[in-house]
Amino acid sequence: MRGKLLALAGLALFVAAHLLGTGCTQPPTLNAIAPGQGYPRQLLAVDGTTLFASVVWDVGLPTETEIYNGLFGTAYFQIPDTAAPGVHPVALRNSNGTSASQNVTVLAPSGAFPAPRIEDIGVFGISGTAPVNVLLTVAAANLDTDATVAVNGTTVTSVRWGALPIDYLLTHTPATYGYPIYHYTQMLSVVDSVALGSTLTVVVTNHDGLADTATYMLPGAVASLDSDGDGLLDSWETGGYVAPSGDTVNLPAMGTDKWRKDVLVEVDWIAAATPNATIWGTIDTVFQFAPVLNPNGSRGVNLILDRGQGGALTGGGDTLADHTTMDFGPSTAAGYTDFFTYKTNNFDNDRLNVFHYAIFGRARPNGSSGRGEVYGNDFMITFVNFAVWAQAVAQVGTFVHEFGHNLGLTHGDVNNTPAQWNETRKPNFPTTMSYRYQFPGVSIDCDFTSEAIHTFSQGAFARINETNVNENIGICDNAPLDMNGDGAITVGQMDASADGDNTDVHDDFDQWGNLLLDFDAPGSRWNNN
Ligand SMILES: [Zn+2]
Repeated sequence: MRGKLLALAGLALFVAAHLLGTGCTQPPTLNAIAPGQGYPRQLLAVDGTTLFASVVWDVGLPTETEIYNGLFGTAYFQIPDTAAPGVHPVALRNSNGTSASQNVTVLAPSGAFPAPRIEDIGVFGISGTAPVNVLLTVAAANLDTDATVAVNGTTVTSVRWGALPIDYLLTHTPATYGYPIYHYTQMLSVVDSVALGSTLTVVVTNHDGLADTATYMLPGAVASLDSDGDGLLDSWETGGYVAPSGDTVNLPAMGTDKWRKDVLVEVDWIAAATPNATIWGTIDTVFQFAPVLNPNGSRGVNLILDRGQGGALTGGGDTLADHTTMDFGPSTAAGYTDFFTYKTNNFDNDRLNVFHYAIFGRARPNGSSGRGEVYGNDFMITFVNFAVWAQAVAQVGTFVHEFGHNLGLTHGDVNNTPAQWNETRKPNFPTTMSYRYQFPGVSIDCDFTSEAIHTFSQGAFARINETNVNENIGICDNAPLDMNGDGAITVGQMDASADGDNTDVHDDFDQWGNLLLDFDAPGSRWNNN
């Protein structure tokens, strides 16, 4: 398997020779470092000639240190653990010399650096039959670029692979968060001689010794591999999905990639609920910029929306017959149409195992703004009668909310108190799944005022115990916040989530790291319809 790594290194050499072919005697150039400031250990991105180059921290000073990591050069680096607050000159260096420097401002540490948290495990290559050798990708929040990876108790050869710098903490106080996230990093690990169908125990350990553990089940056969864990087998993503009818759904023509999470949704609507034309790009962005690292090192979830825009995507965009109300299942109410009647008539059954189906309708019988199967494949958006229907941001939010239910997410989500899954207004849960934020978008700056961003939570906020709430310190940055909406900033027992009791313990939850994408797996509400 080390041959694979060598092959990758060979590729890097090829790229290097190609890129540097005309100027291979030049020292590197450094264009930018982003963000240009950070806390100790925070990951920064380097824009410049990073291939085979090192980052030179404190270049020209007595504290000068060379930092190298990653198979393809130091496109990312972490601020040294011991870096003093203040301005530090940073340059790139290769065998031909050193670039001009740029300044990085180091902020004073705020609280302890957290343990890593595994977000996703995937496959970037598999060879052999019994046993197999696997190139495993492990993505984690707050993972060091020099973290070690152990599989089934043995430390394996690993290199830094994907990386995602995060800058939101720079304007906040990390110590006031429950799990401040400085960055996401991904390792590529060489795992030799493991059995198909076996479950791997994966441990990542940062250089301070803090670790996290997760398991990963290998497929029973190489042919049933789903490298990126999106519920679409590699063979479907590269060669098309053959439906039970014998017809092929041409997934690659729709843009699937076996090493990037793809989610497919077909959307139809009634004329009265024709979506604002601007929402599609916004919805795409929500997923494209998600803090998710794929086996190929790329960022985000690739949402493939068929709204009848053409090319390989001509199934959606049907204008459906009008109704007064719509829901899942039959009803004899006047003007009512069953969602599944529409689906039978307008959705190609060959897509049943690979596409979600969504309808923008008029209203549900109970008047709610929409409904999505929690861990399933069907959802509806039904708030034409709401004043906020006119706002594109509310249409985006309700689509993302109901689709989020399909991806296994709930209003309060997994909690140390399981009954809270349907808590709809937790103060420390910045997600479009919350009723606080479904229409306007979430707030990420320590109050309840929306910044009009739709997304799911990353699980960063601290616990709130309703038996002893301090509104003076709020949910972050010690910013006072009237959580129970009584018009006063107080300390004591209170109903912070507006659910009628004052004894809950509320935890934030990492939704992006816990999406359930394989909607027809056992345990889902797929129901074969
Ligand atoms: Zn909901």
